[in-house]
Amino acid sequence: MSTPPLRLFFAIPCCPQLARDIAEWRAQHPLDGKPVAPENLHMTIAFLGSQPRGQVEALEALANGLERVGFTLQLDRLERWKNGLLHLAPSKVPQALCDFERDLRERLLASGYELESRPFKPHLTLARHCPRLPAAPTPTFDWPVTEFTLFASENTIKGTRYRALGQWPLRPPAPS
Ligand code: ATP
Ligand code: MG
Repeated sequence: MSTPPLRLFFAIPCCPQLARDIAEWRAQHPLDGKPVAPENLHMTIAFLGSQPRGQVEALEALANGLERVGFTLQLDRLERWKNGLLHLAPSKVPQALCDFERDLRERLLASGYELESRPFKPHLTLARHCPRLPAAPTPTFDWPVTEFTLFASENTIKGTRYRALGQWPLRPPAPS
């Protein structure tokens, strides 16, 4: 019997401190819409969609080969897209994040994966189906990014949960 495919994506998971800070801010500024569970807060770097389980090993090897340099993200914009996705975004995208996303995307495309063709817009989703931008003051969160993860997105009775299949450290950036 064949095993069911996995719904895979590479992402930067929120560190516990940032997840707590965001949860606290959300509690002070209740938002309309469906909030993302604190343990699911993340930034997607590459979405692969449905893939055979046998691909995981090759994806691990691909991730091992990436140039992995960390960076700090300053999430200082609160935005809502027309599809109702409320998110935090950086007004300045670190070059190390651009380089990392491009390296990952190019290696995935070279390996035959089909990826989203729209330009990468780094964002951390706070809530979905949000009818309006909240009147809350725009928060600023500093996010030291030190690792990234290959996740399988799974439907559970508690809603969508992400299972980490592999995790890779990013080395500290050189002091400026
Ligand atoms: P749910 O869809 O069950 O409400 P979710 O969106 O968190 O929850 P997934 O749809 O599995 O779970 O998505 C996992 C991650 O991949 C999320 O960050 C999501 O925004 C992103 N993603 C999903 N579909 C695409 C896509 N077609 N292109 C780019 N990113 C996607
Ligand atoms: Mg989804």
